[in-house]
Amino acid sequence: MSYRYRCGTCRATSPALPGRRAAHAARDRHRDQVHGGLVPDGELLWPETGLTLPARRLLIGLGIGGTVMGVWNWVASHR
Ligand SMILES: [Zn+2]
Repeated sequence: MSYRYRCGTCRATSPALPGRRAAHAARDRHRDQVHGGLVPDGELLWPETGLTLPARRLLIGLGIGGTVMGVWNWVASHR
């Protein structure tokens, strides 16, 4: 699976990188070369799934919301 790295400070996203190890290497290189080894704000590193980041966040949010509602319903029906 390929990965992408994004630096929120530079507003720049890497091309698809072959694997998590390559993505971590690209992140470390960027930190060293551009930010003097510091960790910039707004860093993201994610697996390339073909979905955009807002779409992934929406799906994750729906999953969490559904789980919370399911637990709530279970608790409410077992009192
Ligand atoms: Zn940067």
